Formats: sequence, structure tokens, C-alpha cells
Amino acid sequence: MTVTASPVPILSDNYAWLLRDSSTGATAIVDPADAQPIIEAIEKAGGRLDMILLTHHHGDHIAGVDEVRARFNCPVVGAAADRHRLPALDQAVREGDTVRLGSAVGEVIETPGHTRGQINFFFPDGAVLLSGDTLFSLGCGRLIEGTPAEMFDSLRKLAALPGDTLVCCGHEYTESNARFALAVDPGNEALHDFVGRVEQLRAAGQPSVPSVLADELKANPFLLAPDVASLAAVRAKKDKF
Ligand code: ZN
Ligand code: FE
Repeated sequence: MTVTASPVPILSDNYAWLLRDSSTGATAIVDPADAQPIIEAIEKAGGRLDMILLTHHHGDHIAGVDEVRARFNCPVVGAAADRHRLPALDQAVREGDTVRLGSAVGEVIETPGHTRGQINFFFPDGAVLLSGDTLFSLGCGRLIEGTPAEMFDSLRKLAALPGDTLVCCGHEYTESNARFALAVDPGNEALHDFVGRVEQLRAAGQPSVPSVLADELKANPFLLAPDVASLAAVRAKKDKF
């Protein structure tokens, strides 16, 4: 029994994620911001939806929620801290709470920085991390509401997950993140290897994600930042890149 995650490309560069618990067939969708392609992907996967998970309140992560909920009549899970600006929640969660997908359990990790109420979900069974707009492949979210110290702490929590964790993020930003990463860390061999794999995937029309956390730890300039000041500096540089 394990959880698998597949990206559903939506909008211009977003990914919703279709999660499936292999032992029960229970299915969840993460950040369904565009109902039509998501309903199609769910129908194609068997037409079952047990749960909607939300990482944060931005429109490009929640816009399709009410339509998908109405179609499949399933509960919506999101951050208690952002209840006032999320679609109606059936389960409002905080750090350390869990969600159940069939026989699998997902852990809630609060990761403020991009937004104040951002949460991520981690399914140990399958090592699947839904990182929203906190951790991207070779990047991290812009600090729209949070401080560098908050983002640093959030990234440290994610960095402590098992190395084989699959990082399922909210956007296909990897190639542009790679250009920045190569500019600030040109001598990083692991980064060059990483970017080579990304280029191959994108050239073949494939998503660059999920990535593997152990690879991110060696190549992602935001995970490589050793302290808050360094993270603040690299984030400021990226904002102007
Ligand atoms: Zn966002
Ligand atoms: Fe986003």
C-alpha cells in the first residue's frame, strides 16, 4: 500500500496533483484551480474523488474547488489559519494534524513564507510531499506575506524529510529556476546534472516534477542557503533576476 502522485497541468504553468492510495483506490486532488481538466483527469483515473486538499488561498490553487466539490461531493481540507480566505472547509488543519486517504495518512506541515497560512502535506507511505508554492524544483516561493526567517524555517522542515521524498510542487518553474541557480552556483556539479535531466524531460514534453528531495538538497540554491541572511539574499537576488 502506497500513495502515488501524478501531476495534472492546468492554467499556464500550474500543477494540480492527483493522489491515489493503491490499497483502497481512494483518490484526492491537490489545488484544483481549473475544474474542467481536473474533472476529466479524475474521470480518466476511474471517476472517484474522496478528498480535495488545498495548500494555500491563491486563485491559481483554489479557483476550481467549488465546481469539483459539487461534481464529486467530497470534503475539502485546508489550513485553519486561512479559513477566512479559502473555500468552505470540511476539515481545517494545523501543524501535526493528519488527513486520511483510504489507508494512507498524510501529515500536515505548516510552511509560512509565500503566504502566512501555507501548508504542505506529506504522505510517508510513498514519500509524497505536496509542497504547494513553498518549495519548487530548484526554487522556492516568493515571500509575498512571510519573512525570510519564516521561509528558512519552513524549508528546514521540508529538508528534514526522507531523501527519497518526491517533491510535488505547484508550478512548472524548473527551467527558469535552473537559469537562476546556474547563475548563482555555476560550479555545482550536482546542479548541472539536475539541469541536464530537466532539459531532457522538458524537451520530451514531460513535466520536470516531481523531483527527489535528496537531489534538491544538493542543487536548489534556497535549500543550500545555510542561514536566514543567506536565504534572504538569494531570494532578493532571484526577485530581480
Ligand atoms: Zn501562490
Ligand atoms: Fe501559485
